[in-house]
Amino acid sequence: MSIQVFGQAVSRGIAIGRAVLIASSRVDVAHYYIDESRVEPEIDRLRQARDVVATELTTLKRDLPIEAPAELPALLDVHLMLLHDEALTGATKQWIRSRHYNAEWALSAQLEVMARQFDEMDDEYLRERKADLEQVVERMLRALSRAGPLLPASAGVHGTEDPLVLIANDIAPADMLQFKGSVFSGFVTDVGGKTSHSAIVARSMDIPAVVGAREASRLIRQDDWIVIDGDAGVVVVDPSPIVLEEYRFRQRQSELERARLHRLRHMPSVTLDGETVELLANIELPRDAVVAVDSGAVGVGLFRSEFLFMNRGGELPSEDEQFEAYRGVVEAMHGLPVTIRTVDIGADKPLDRLTIHELRHEYGLNPALGLRAIRWSLAEPAMFRQQLRAILRASAFGTVRVLLPMVAQLSEIRMAREALARAKQQLSEAGHAYKDVELGAMIEVPAAVLIVPSILRELDFVSIGTNDLIQYTLAIDRADEAVAKFYDPWHPAVLQLIARAIDAANCAGKHVSICGEMAGDVAFTELLLAMGLRSFSMQPSQISAVKQRILRADVRRLVPRLPATLASDEPMMEWTRQIHETSGPTVAPAV
Ligand code: PEP
Ligand code: MG
Repeated sequence: MSIQVFGQAVSRGIAIGRAVLIASSRVDVAHYYIDESRVEPEIDRLRQARDVVATELTTLKRDLPIEAPAELPALLDVHLMLLHDEALTGATKQWIRSRHYNAEWALSAQLEVMARQFDEMDDEYLRERKADLEQVVERMLRALSRAGPLLPASAGVHGTEDPLVLIANDIAPADMLQFKGSVFSGFVTDVGGKTSHSAIVARSMDIPAVVGAREASRLIRQDDWIVIDGDAGVVVVDPSPIVLEEYRFRQRQSELERARLHRLRHMPSVTLDGETVELLANIELPRDAVVAVDSGAVGVGLFRSEFLFMNRGGELPSEDEQFEAYRGVVEAMHGLPVTIRTVDIGADKPLDRLTIHELRHEYGLNPALGLRAIRWSLAEPAMFRQQLRAILRASAFGTVRVLLPMVAQLSEIRMAREALARAKQQLSEAGHAYKDVELGAMIEVPAAVLIVPSILRELDFVSIGTNDLIQYTLAIDRADEAVAKFYDPWHPAVLQLIARAIDAANCAGKHVSICGEMAGDVAFTELLLAMGLRSFSMQPSQISAVKQRILRADVRRLVPRLPATLASDEPMMEWTRQIHETSGPTVAPAV
């Protein structure tokens, strides 16, 4: 039976494919296809892993100390029984044979199927065996990883397979990264808001995604056919042939539209009345710089450097490792400016996958209001100086700007400047080359908006982080789907703060940009132009669509509409009303 699940539209387009359900704890399992010729060797790998685990369990049972609780041997017997159960091994082999999944993927796919069957059992004792099954699979996954893959984990899509979409309860931002360039052509998660970091990473992959779809991972079964409508935030499970045909048609339309927009990428971004607008890229990984250049970005407006620091088991990247990563981006941009944001760790971007309890212990009772971003860096001066040294060294290879996240106090700026001066001194002493870099601050808390003039007496530029500015202005957790409907970029307070920050920076004669998700949302392009913004930084995939709006905009006609919009209780309605009432025909350049 076909059903629909609703969530937050995160990344545009339509994806149609078979569902691959992944438990949040198992997202780091490798997913790749194997060739027909590798099927039997892969099944052998699985068999060997099973034998290894069987030996482990038998040895464990044999060596149990006398004082061990009496249930333990029985429990190990249950694990052995599950290990040899045809429902696990037989069906896992079937995933390998029929779908050409690698062994780890096949095993976790079958675990999801069986876990669901256990959940549906009436008998409590049997229901509880799910945890045992998970432990057995965990052991097998460990054995497989010790043995290593037959193929590199990055092996590409097997041409003849059905497209796949990934369904998970939640995917941490750092885990999401590993799916870049993977076999999946769409994503659905139960949790998350439109500007949660996982959603941002999904958007950067430029594939359709829906987050905050609450029940999706419970309602969808392994291998179901799924349509993801990334424009409307709808997931259709098991669509009827007519519905499927309709979506296939829309999918083709949307691909044509993308191809058409892509042709704009090398056109200068200038409004009808001759205002040049800078379109920059947001990136998470060094390799994204290539995509940024290809999309026509004239620089990197935000390099979220924290992704280099995550999921490393507490070990931070060395100065040299960071230097290589930053230099890679700077060189890939061929002299175009690269804005590297110092680590924005904390809140929904912890260093490692943590439980809520651990998160609070590390970053404060409320991580979003705790030791996050610049606060964390200043609390770790050696780490901070190391990052600044690495960035400075990369500056010798192009044009680099340094951006400080979540500044709220002038004292933070002064301390950061001292750290930068100290880093320069250390580099000079060590004989390393570096250039002078511009230093700027993210404006993402209301307090910072109110002191932009003071901030800009100390710094060279500001970049408005609307994702956090909305979160902190409206007191809405951006990652919490339960309050997602109140996360409103059109809120009058939000728009007034943004307008005020842009105006203050323009009055100070300093560079101002927006690097939050509003910059890439075409619904705001004209409004932000009217506010005086001339620099937008966004996901590379959004650049062409925003450019199209800019090419069609006449700022002289937009500016007079701003005061009434900002004064209105319903700015969205007011802005749209004025656009419809007063806009005569504008001559759009042929595309
Ligand atoms: C923002 O808050 O708008 C921003 C760009 O930073 P991030 O999304 O990484 O918090
Ligand atoms: Mg932010």
